[in-house]
Amino acid sequence: MDLPASVPAPESIARYRGRYRSEEIGRAYRGWLHLAFTSAVSIGVILLCIWQLDAVTALEWLTVPLVVLYSNLAEYVGHRGPMHRPVRGLKLVYERHAKQHHRFFTDRAMAFESSRDFKAVLFPPLMIVFFIGGFGLPLWILLYILASANVAWLALATAVAYFLNYEWLHFAYHCDPRSRIGRIPGLAVLRRLHVRHHDPRLMTRYNFNITYPVGDWLFRTLHHSGPDSPA
Ligand SMILES: [Zn+2]
Ligand SMILES: [Zn+2]
Repeated sequence: MDLPASVPAPESIARYRGRYRSEEIGRAYRGWLHLAFTSAVSIGVILLCIWQLDAVTALEWLTVPLVVLYSNLAEYVGHRGPMHRPVRGLKLVYERHAKQHHRFFTDRAMAFESSRDFKAVLFPPLMIVFFIGGFGLPLWILLYILASANVAWLALATAVAYFLNYEWLHFAYHCDPRSRIGRIPGLAVLRRLHVRHHDPRLMTRYNFNITYPVGDWLFRTLHHSGPDSPA
């Protein structure tokens, strides 16, 4: 039996949610502010990059699809690897994803109960600064030296746009499917794949792409059969 989002989460999940909320979500936490921070920083960096472009050649535009594909595979490998298997040095990633995110949300209880629950989905604000500074900057420097300034700016803009797309999609999957965000056309197909991934029996084996299932299709870990879940 599938539960609509408004039905209270099963008891064990409700108990875990209560614990997570009291231990992990501070009183000052504001979910919509968190989402606004992620969006504003990302959009700001993307605009800054676009601002720097100058007479981009056809070959340089190729950077965009290549970085999209690279990001999709990085998302796949990161999720299938350290997010679901403890890897030395990346235990925190495993804790946050496999131990917290997957216990807070299962295929039976996928939706936020309030904006405070956004904390269990979105990357922490500090991690965003770390991502852009720790991965984006070295990538920019490398491409600036090896290719061209345009390629460096295009790659950074695409990587950050991909990250924001990831955050927005994952956020939307965990909204009530009957809400305004939950009813965005086309979202249901992608959400269904993520709901399957949240089935505890399937989570370490299928649907590791959060955005578009390119990696899952390539590595044959796509799972789209079974009953539809409204949540
Ligand atoms: Zn999720
Ligand atoms: Zn997962």
